[in-house]
Amino acid sequence: MYPSRFRYEAPRSIDEAIALLQQGSGEAKVLAGGQSLVPLLKLRFAAPELLVDINGLPGLAYHKVDADGTIRIGALCRHADLERSTILPARQPTMAAAAPLVADPIVRNRGTLVGSLCHADPQGDWASVVTALGGYVVAQGSRGRRNIPMADFVAGPFETVLDYDELAVEAVIPAPKGTPHGGYLKLERRVGDFATAGAAVAVEMSGATVTRAGIALTGVGGSTINATDAAQALVGGPLSADRITYAADLAAQAAEPRTDHRGSAEYKRQIVRTFVQRILSRVQQPTERAA
Ligand SMILES: Cc1cc2nc3c(=O)[nH]c(=O)nc-3n(C[C@H](O)[C@H](O)[C@H](O)COP(=O)(O)OP(=O)(O)OC[C@H]3O[C@@H](n4cnc5c(N)ncnc54)[C@H](O)[C@@H]3O)c2cc1C
Repeated sequence: MYPSRFRYEAPRSIDEAIALLQQGSGEAKVLAGGQSLVPLLKLRFAAPELLVDINGLPGLAYHKVDADGTIRIGALCRHADLERSTILPARQPTMAAAAPLVADPIVRNRGTLVGSLCHADPQGDWASVVTALGGYVVAQGSRGRRNIPMADFVAGPFETVLDYDELAVEAVIPAPKGTPHGGYLKLERRVGDFATAGAAVAVEMSGATVTRAGIALTGVGGSTINATDAAQALVGGPLSADRITYAADLAAQAAEPRTDHRGSAEYKRQIVRTFVQRILSRVQQPTERAA
């Protein structure tokens, strides 16, 4: 099917993009990588009057680290940039683990992390990762800039709290206060598929003690699930086997999976339990110094 008719604009600055979104009065859509929006247009599930293509905006294709360790991902940073990143493997293991698991190489070449957050698909991998890392989205609109914590960014399936004239300009991962550990695991029916179930786990450690933890789940609820009780159960102690098992059980309880063609609810819950346990069990803990 062909998309409905729309006006196409390719602004050259963020201000121009915001002015166009304002003109659109809620009938405009931002086009980033197009990997989610274009299929929706072709199926006519979305029929915007105006497409604001941000691919020509200068200076948004970055991912970088501030001096204090904060990671910033610009709105035009592609999944493939993160997959090939030389920054992430040493700095941010949860992101580094997720990057090669998002979709397939073709989609990763065009799709963006920020676009994935804005698309708010309950099966979107990056939303779980950014939630687990306590990240936020920087939105810019006619009333200026604001930071929206990822945990508050999604209003429901495929819906965010962005105003119609706001552009998400970057996603930010705050600097870790301890040594970052963690990972992302995803069960997919075949390579490149959306998650049957996925788990993002991020812990920060000072010595053998967990000082901060985040656990978020993909594809097992109406939105990304922030398993705060499971994460909180890890803080203040070591990653002992019983604490890991307890946190994994709490994460499984937090999941709200539905039985469908990908598997039964109980199966998906068990996947969550296994993934959280597996990621935490792989964390290399400091060995005690010999007396
Ligand atoms: C075959 C296939 C398989 C896929 N598999 C997976 C998968 O396994 N896991 C996964 O997570 N995703 C998957 N995706 C989705 C893919 O990751 C998309 O790239 C991503 O969801 C959207 O990013 P985009 O840059 O392409 O956004 P677009 O498609 O351009 O936009 C998506 C939505 O976000 C809005 N938007 C985009 N950028 C901004 C911005 N800066 N400010 C405000 N609004 C914005 C758009 O208006 C639109 O509503 C798959 C897609 C395809 C086609």
